[in-house]
Amino acid sequence: MSQTNYVFPPPAVQSLPIRGKSERYAINRLFFVGRNYYAHAIEMDRPVDKTVDKPFYFLKAPQTLVESGATIPYPPGTQNYHYEMELVLAVGKAGFRVSAEQAHELVYGYAAGLDMTRRDLQLVAREKGRPWDLGKDIENGSVCTEIVHMPGQIIEQAAIALEVNGETKQSSNVEKLIWNIRELIADLTQFYHLQPGDLIYTGTPEGVGAVVAGDRITGRVEGVAELSLNIGAAE
Ligand code: MN
Repeated sequence: MSQTNYVFPPPAVQSLPIRGKSERYAINRLFFVGRNYYAHAIEMDRPVDKTVDKPFYFLKAPQTLVESGATIPYPPGTQNYHYEMELVLAVGKAGFRVSAEQAHELVYGYAAGLDMTRRDLQLVAREKGRPWDLGKDIENGSVCTEIVHMPGQIIEQAAIALEVNGETKQSSNVEKLIWNIRELIADLTQFYHLQPGDLIYTGTPEGVGAVVAGDRITGRVEGVAELSLNIGAAE
């Protein structure tokens, strides 16, 4: 059998554990939904009106993924490193132009995640009309728990919460998503051929804020998973 040779080893496949299984969930892409809770959109001074607005997305490189429980260095280039607690949808089946009614067929399962954000750089980019990459595409900035296999299930209601050093900072319910799981799959597949291994971070509720070195983040999505992250010293 012929073997492709590379001048250096190709990048490792990113993956997450799956609860109760020995196989891991191989990562394809990391999609993030912006402003998907009304109260968070308001705290960001960009209120959403669903009758006229459409969902929007950004992506982070798979290499930004880090498993829940890790200790990460405080990242370079920011003085305002924010947590965003999110329900994460794991895609298990390919789909393109999928209707909301058929959206459940793409669901492999769910996880709890953090969309870590250099808020200072994101806001500069937003005001100048520049891409968000420096604010969002951060090494170790896409935190995720194990994947929970819940094939074909649509989560419509679940408490979502986050604490920093034990103090509650975010507390909401995914029933408050502006665009729900079915609507997100239907909309995103108008633009992308979703693939197994695609994760969709569905947006954060209100209460986002900064962490500093030495802080410990804990969080959970009821009925899915519990998450933690320790912020270490800057490199
Ligand atoms: Mn987010």
